[in-house]
Amino acid sequence: MPRTLEIYEDLGIVKQALSNGVEMLGERLFVDGTVAVDWNFSEVDSFYCKPLLLHQGVTEKLLCEKLAAILGPDRMNYALQRPVEVTSLKVGHTFAEGVHVCACSLSDPEESNANAEGQHSEDTGSVDNVTPRTSEAETTSSMTYGWTTSGDTGQQGPRTHRIRGKQFNVHARYVVGCDGARSFVRKSLGIPFEGFTIPSEFIVADVVMTWGVPPDRNKFNLLTAPNRMVECCPLPSGPSLLEPPPRLPDGGATHRRQGGGAARQYGSSSSNRWRLTTIRRIAEDRPEAMLECREARPPPSKKELQAMTAKLVAGTIIDHVIWSSSFSINCRSAAFMKRGNAFLAGDAAHIFPPLFHQGHNTGIGDAYNLGWKLAHVLQDGANPALLESYEQERKPVGDAVVRFTSFGYQEIIEAKGYIAWSMKNILPLFFNNKAFNSALTNRISQCHIKYPVDSGAVGKVFVSDSALPGERAPDATVAIISSEPSTVGNFIRLHEVYVGSGHVLLFVLRIPLSSEGPSGSSWFNLCSSQSQTAERNIIGKELEQIVEFASRVRSRIEKTKVVLLFTVGLASIVPPNAQFSGLSFLIANFKERMSKNFPNQAPEETCVAWDVEGEVTRRYRLHLHPFTKHKCAAFFLIRDDKHIRNHGYCGDTYAEATCIDSLSLYHP
Ligand SMILES: Cc1cc2nc3c(=O)[nH]c(=O)nc-3n(C[C@H](O)[C@H](O)[C@H](O)COP(=O)(O)OP(=O)(O)OC[C@H]3O[C@@H](n4cnc5c(N)ncnc54)[C@H](O)[C@@H]3O)c2cc1C
Repeated sequence: MPRTLEIYEDLGIVKQALSNGVEMLGERLFVDGTVAVDWNFSEVDSFYCKPLLLHQGVTEKLLCEKLAAILGPDRMNYALQRPVEVTSLKVGHTFAEGVHVCACSLSDPEESNANAEGQHSEDTGSVDNVTPRTSEAETTSSMTYGWTTSGDTGQQGPRTHRIRGKQFNVHARYVVGCDGARSFVRKSLGIPFEGFTIPSEFIVADVVMTWGVPPDRNKFNLLTAPNRMVECCPLPSGPSLLEPPPRLPDGGATHRRQGGGAARQYGSSSSNRWRLTTIRRIAEDRPEAMLECREARPPPSKKELQAMTAKLVAGTIIDHVIWSSSFSINCRSAAFMKRGNAFLAGDAAHIFPPLFHQGHNTGIGDAYNLGWKLAHVLQDGANPALLESYEQERKPVGDAVVRFTSFGYQEIIEAKGYIAWSMKNILPLFFNNKAFNSALTNRISQCHIKYPVDSGAVGKVFVSDSALPGERAPDATVAIISSEPSTVGNFIRLHEVYVGSGHVLLFVLRIPLSSEGPSGSSWFNLCSSQSQTAERNIIGKELEQIVEFASRVRSRIEKTKVVLLFTVGLASIVPPNAQFSGLSFLIANFKERMSKNFPNQAPEETCVAWDVEGEVTRRYRLHLHPFTKHKCAAFFLIRDDKHIRNHGYCGDTYAEATCIDSLSLYHP
């Protein structure tokens, strides 16, 4: 989904993701063979506005490669150990207590036989805050573990029987249970998984088939007819989505893909390969038992799939089933996402029907939210109380997705008479409405997510009509201005400027149009003339205050990139080579002060840019007035996960002090 792609951009893997996936243009709903709704994601407020069809195994591979690139082969060998099974867990409540995890390595029976006894070596390398102990016991009992796909989402089907190898203990500060719907961590903590299981199961199959559904569109198709439903999307003719999940790096091995970046399109030459998702009702007295059910049920046969699809589209012929499986359907949410030093993320914390493709994306959002907080606590000595905000922020998000995807789900998938009628006659009225489409697609894209204001890691509202604390920082195109001499460099998006770990402190400074200043001198003169004007002096003073506030923020969070943005609130031309102008004087002066205050900061940690299209003013919903005290500049402190933490007008001492006070609490 778009928000996940923005996260991948921040992590530096978006190009690889795009070149391995297929961009989808939208979703079509067919009722009784006719398209009733045909909608797209054009209203999504993101540079990556199209959802990407990407194998979850590829995502894991890209993330592992990134981790390997950051850690280097030696540390990676130690940091990522798989497959392992966590078998017991002891969770402390204070920072010092940490957690004790007992785990054992797993191997496939063939590998295990091939390895001579005693060849397994305990890795004694060390990773920050993770201290391995010597092996205490060794068991070789056989167990049933893991699915043939990368997920543990309640899938029923063939499984790999793996052999337990050496057992080892890890003592760490924290543990994050990302261990899927049947989470061992969640159960060990005694956290209830509240909700219900629908007494139906999902069938997913990749098939080669002949039918009348047009294959030449990059769209998901939902086909409904009374009492049945099939979601289908054409698979690309290339291998990417049909290949088995790529093998993850064992230890430090990396498989970097060079270049690339454009997602694949089907064009009109798509093959007749499809992914089908449909429902099979099951007789189950105790639906709750379904979640725990690990007994393999047979995957849908070709005959069964043939019968299901032919009932929707007469004359359908399934030529070949490439892969198929079945999954239980759950609508559940963990009562807590944190207990002591343990956290839950992804399906371990919430599981819901795969309507609108939210599951993986919500899990990535959890990890992104928690990751930066853990980094600040473990690497930069932030107060562990910062971690309390994880549950405050992510639990409402997970609960909302459970409600959103579960609402009326049973009725929709069964497409009963009145539902089918509404889908055909009422739904199109909504979907043709721009405001509805925008609200829905921004929700599905997860770009709409806001965290609660005035809570742990999100500050108070000081400018009620601007972009608010808790919101995702909007994106916009700006032009980088380099000083000495002042030249307008490349156009770039703000999200590209924000890339990387650490906070960003954005200042937006409104400079005057010709009629606004005391001497009538406009920004255009400022760019092109050297003369000392009253306007230039006033702006210079404003910049002094900005430097002073930036220094106070950086004294709390040293890793804060400062972005100074000039705007006139409208599209404006900046002379490309305004050498020795008033502007270059001001910028040079600003940068000099910044580097004097922070001699250890790399120059790229301070960036000056121009709001060329007035887009920043619009998207950050600013109403700035030059030469009006405390209203000519605004600040936004943006967290590592690119959500706004604090905001206010520059020079508003209460807003600034509140920001610094809240930072002092968590970043002493
Ligand atoms: C039919 C279907 C279609 C879907 N389609 C989409 C979609 O289009 N888009 C989308 O975003 N989401 C989709 N989802 C949801 C998505 O697959 C999940 O939300 C996602 O896989 C969850 O990731 P996770 O890492 O939290 O858990 P998982 O992927 O389940 O990973 C958990 C991991 O933990 C391991 N583990 C479990 N127990 C232990 C233990 N004791 N010790 C060590 N390791 C352990 C497991 O082996 C597994 O590797 C779909 C789900 C289904 C069922």
